[in-house]
Amino acid sequence: MKRIALLGATGSIGRQAIEVIGAHPDLELVAATSGSQPIDGLARLTQVGGDPTELLERAQPDLVLNAVVGFAGLVPTVWALEHGVTLALANKESLVAAGELALAARRRGQGDLIPVDSEHSALFQCAQLGEPESLVLTASGGPFRGRTREELADVTPEQALAHPTWSMGPKITIDSATLANKGLEIIEAHFLFAVDYDRIEVIIHPPSIVHGIVRFRDGASVAHLGYPDMRVPISYALTYPERAATPIPPLELQTLVFEQPDPETFRMLALAREAGEKGGTYPCAYNAANEVAVQAFLERRIGFLDIAALVEDALGHVDGSPARDLAELVEADRRARELVAVT
Ligand code: NDP
Ligand code: MG
Repeated sequence: MKRIALLGATGSIGRQAIEVIGAHPDLELVAATSGSQPIDGLARLTQVGGDPTELLERAQPDLVLNAVVGFAGLVPTVWALEHGVTLALANKESLVAAGELALAARRRGQGDLIPVDSEHSALFQCAQLGEPESLVLTASGGPFRGRTREELADVTPEQALAHPTWSMGPKITIDSATLANKGLEIIEAHFLFAVDYDRIEVIIHPPSIVHGIVRFRDGASVAHLGYPDMRVPISYALTYPERAATPIPPLELQTLVFEQPDPETFRMLALAREAGEKGGTYPCAYNAANEVAVQAFLERRIGFLDIAALVEDALGHVDGSPARDLAELVEADRRARELVAVT
């Protein structure tokens, strides 16, 4: 029996994880948390709000599934990595913000870190065949693929929330519309696979069938394909190194189309790459500024194009020097949030 602690149980990933766990006789949910909503039917196992450390210490899980959204996911990420407890990581923001510190914690804890993000789950599976020479992350392009900047000036949160292929929580859905999600994923891939930024490519692939491609030095490239359904990477991460059955049908082959991203319109992609290459706490600041800007957009306090403008401005003003410990990282996150000038 694998004993699982689920952080972010009320969210999009959290609810799908409860379904996957319920369908598998060898998976047991022993603890669950949410931010502020009650967790239906799981009262005995749960904690709403606050620091999850005590719950994790009490539950002593075999695996932590971190499905919290945003920088708030930092605590369970670090707890699992420090304690050598297998971490199934959906919360990409914690790895982006805390990359170096998280990897140092993992070296001390010696546990497994298994990505749940679909592209990274795909790359993780492909990378079992050899050392990656370079990586390709696919992006659907979001609801505004093919639009010009002028056409995006007045788009509403409702339009941005209408994702063409994936059904997800609001923050990541807006990130998919700005391509900040793919920006975060470039940094996530850099830390997960120790591949330099100039060897991580992004390609637009509207049907979201190919999730990731690993290129090897002998000229072979291996791709991971499947219907866009997060229950597949969730199930993989929870049952690794085994592969359990899921209700998702086998893939019917179809024509696969790819196109280049438009970096002028979708500035968040280039800004992520720059922040990643600069290193230090620049990725933390990119993430923090984006979180504040996305919330402001969802609350209609700023326009869609202001998200990238505000993040770019904040990145121009931060001190991106590396954080020596978690307290310094939390401080870098706080300062970057303050720099985002929205009221
Ligand atoms: P949701 O917004 O649907 O769910 C977020 C979860 O986090 C909820 O359970 C929420 O609780 C909880 N939460 C929010 N704030 C806090 C906080 N301060 N402290 C503790 N818990 C909190 O998000 P998603 O499920 O869409 O995404 C979760 C993570 O997975 C994100 O990092 C996202 O980038 C990543 N991811 C998601 C994918 C998807 O398909 N949804 C795909 C790939 C990655 P409450 O309900 O009480 O607010
Ligand atoms: Mg993804």
